[in-house]
Amino acid sequence: ISTTSVSTHDPKRRVLKDVFGFDDFRPGQASVMEALLAGRHVLAVMPTGAGKSLCYQVPALVKGGLTIVVSPLVALMQDQVAALRLAGVAADTINSSIDRDANVAAWRRVASGQTRLLYLAPERLMTERMLDALARLDVRLIAIDEAHCISQWGPAFRREYEDLAQLRGIFPDVPIIAVTATADETTRADIETRLFGGRVETQVLGFDRPNIKLAIEPKQDSKRQLLNFIERHQGRSGIVYCLSRKKTEEMAAFLEKNGVTALAYHAGMSKEARDANQNAFMTLSGVVMVATIAFGMGIDKPDVAYVFHTDLPGSLEAYYQEIGRAGRDGRAAEAHMLYGLGDIRMRRMFIEDEDAAAEHKRRSHVRLDTLIGYCETAECRRQVLLGYFGEEATPCGNCDNCLEQAPRADGTAEARLILAAVAQSGERFGAGHVIDILLGHETEKVTGRGHHRLAAFGSGAAHKKDFWQSLIRQLVANGFLVPDPGGHGGLAIADKGHALGRGEVAFQYRVETRTRAARRAARAG
Ligand code: ADP
Ligand code: ZN
Repeated sequence: ISTTSVSTHDPKRRVLKDVFGFDDFRPGQASVMEALLAGRHVLAVMPTGAGKSLCYQVPALVKGGLTIVVSPLVALMQDQVAALRLAGVAADTINSSIDRDANVAAWRRVASGQTRLLYLAPERLMTERMLDALARLDVRLIAIDEAHCISQWGPAFRREYEDLAQLRGIFPDVPIIAVTATADETTRADIETRLFGGRVETQVLGFDRPNIKLAIEPKQDSKRQLLNFIERHQGRSGIVYCLSRKKTEEMAAFLEKNGVTALAYHAGMSKEARDANQNAFMTLSGVVMVATIAFGMGIDKPDVAYVFHTDLPGSLEAYYQEIGRAGRDGRAAEAHMLYGLGDIRMRRMFIEDEDAAAEHKRRSHVRLDTLIGYCETAECRRQVLLGYFGEEATPCGNCDNCLEQAPRADGTAEARLILAAVAQSGERFGAGHVIDILLGHETEKVTGRGHHRLAAFGSGAAHKKDFWQSLIRQLVANGFLVPDPGGHGGLAIADKGHALGRGEVAFQYRVETRTRAARRAARAG
């Protein structure tokens, strides 16, 4: 007997084929579905694009009755409901963006048992009225999308998600599936405890996206660097992430001026303008979207050739999610980031300005340190990235570090010169001023403060400015210097830096910036 006739005995496979038109499960899908169909709670951690929705949509149809899907974004709910209806599935959503009559009609279908999947925002679901009404119906499965939103330590905490912890008590016999693409060990453990009281089967699917080349370049002239990069990808679609709204507009205008079709996208634009730009990006080819992180959730365009970060992302998880929008079609794609000291300072400031508990801030700083470590590493970047998600990997051969071995050198003597300049000027000045002292530049600020009389003045004249910039960046990344402890942008010396000053530790740096950047520029130009 052929395999097809065997497979039709498998109800989930029949639903996959008959309803969704797919012949095979993607990796991880079948085992998540089996656990749910066997009545177990599941936390499914799968990368974006892996096909998480099907993990609960198929079991919902196999089980019959009603499945509740909790989703944080109205737009995502509506997309999913529309797609399900196209496939002939009775799906509904009740939410604040549709009018009362439509909501009433939807509820009638739910109450009469016609609806298979009901999409709700958490705050809608967790009202007494809704829960009472649902408790009288035949609820057989609960799915929680973007489940990391429940974790306070996660990058996207939402207060409305906290209440979802009550679900397992309210529906004790209903299996719950939580899905997310974003879960480092801490967040994962947090979801397991909060949503499931620890009683859950966690399934983690591979995070590697081997077709995305990973590279990081020291930030020098970001406009020029971006343009050089884009010229290597002419005619392809790409996403450029910038930190600020203003910068997205500036960058888009700059690209346009240089003959690149570029559009901006940020939360400060009108909805019409945003939708128009998103539409153009999705439907045309060769459009560059210059955006803040407001752009991206739910974007599934297969032929994005690159994701370019002009600024440091918020965390390694955020970075991973953002670059994951490239190369969904499996073709060679690139994730390229510009990285400078100013970015670290900016991110530290964001954390300090946050209205959050000290413990939260501490964790945020640690998160940032992890990201900086990724940027500064001389090892295979994919190993570092996947390692962060708990996956082991061998050197990938498709990141800048694998492709061009970063040479290292002893920089202890040079580091001491920097530390001396920092100490003598009172640990109150930023990299720019410290470098002016090292190079012996008689700027107004230097002479105005009498820093031309310091012993350190001119002590670093043997090297150029970008050498010192790179070294300071690496001293910060490796914990010898603390950027901006007082919020004034000054550099201070960390304990490790004092130890280096006393000759107790040495400092190895990667010889990268100038030579490697120059080589790259020569190749590109
Ligand atoms: P995620 O939520 O994990 O980012 P989605 O659930 O949106 O991913 O699925 C991404 C895409 O993959 C969708 O277009 C979906 O139809 C498709 N897909 C999911 N499962 C399969 C499958 N088994 N075979 C083919 N395509 C699939
Ligand atoms: Zn590598």
